[in-house]
Amino acid sequence: MTEIKLQSTLFHRSVHLSEQDLLAPSICCPFCASIERTPIAVLQKEPEVALLYCRTCHAASASRMPKPEALEKYYSHYYDDKEEKITLDTPDRMASHIVRYARPLMGDLAEQHVCLLDYGGGDGSISIGIARKLLDLGAGKVDIALLDYDRSTKESSGQRIQISRPADIAQIAEQSMDLVIASAVIEHIPEPRDVLAKLLTSLKPGGVFYARTPYVSPLSRLAKVANSSFDFTYPAHVHDLGARFWNNVVNILPLTGEYQVLRSTPSIVETTFRQHFLRTLAAHVLKMPGYVFKETYGLVGGWEVFIRCRP
Ligand SMILES: [Zn+2]
Repeated sequence: MTEIKLQSTLFHRSVHLSEQDLLAPSICCPFCASIERTPIAVLQKEPEVALLYCRTCHAASASRMPKPEALEKYYSHYYDDKEEKITLDTPDRMASHIVRYARPLMGDLAEQHVCLLDYGGGDGSISIGIARKLLDLGAGKVDIALLDYDRSTKESSGQRIQISRPADIAQIAEQSMDLVIASAVIEHIPEPRDVLAKLLTSLKPGGVFYARTPYVSPLSRLAKVANSSFDFTYPAHVHDLGARFWNNVVNILPLTGEYQVLRSTPSIVETTFRQHFLRTLAAHVLKMPGYVFKETYGLVGGWEVFIRCRP
């Protein structure tokens, strides 16, 4: 069972990085700059890269980050491989999931012009799905700002959904977004502090932020005990972020507005019973205790939050 679950979190392949692919070790946590960090796992040997747990903000991050060129090379191969690119059985399920929990927090949508930022949103499958659902719920128009390495875009559904492709997050104005999505992307960013702060400050008062990240370090410890191999998928994933991190995140970032974590749970099961029965069953079973013992139980594979900028 465990083996199946571990596999389901692997959407990228690990590669071994050589000395020239790596930046120098950093002593500071890339989220909060604390130096109170403890090694909890080895990501690769020779040269050694460890996973360091920050005792201040509870993020776990790689002790050495890949150089930008090394990452660029890695992702250029990643996007060649269509099989690897699909991380969800149905992007539409993900869109429904986000709308289900974000919609009640978003206020009156009637005839509203909704602005949505999808950071790391690939071809826009999820954000276009969200836009369609918001239109069904009464929104007048949805503008999607889609930021990603991947520049392909799915067909949108006519005049009421407009997609733009800002080249950089700096182009997003403060307090301009009703909904900001960062689904399975923060774990890929070596220096995520400014990005995360920017995503939150781009929310209008009353706007909602959704993030989902892998949280696999407790699973990797279990795999070690069971003498089973575990692939953290470094350097694709350079952070591991669970309940403790996300419940505290608004306190460690340079934010001016007031932000509330309104929902914090194990992440949505990414596969469906129809397409991957055993894997899906194992994921549900493993995640279940995480809804109750949020910060103490760790075998959830991933965590997600809905955070609102106080109106
Ligand atoms: Zn930290």
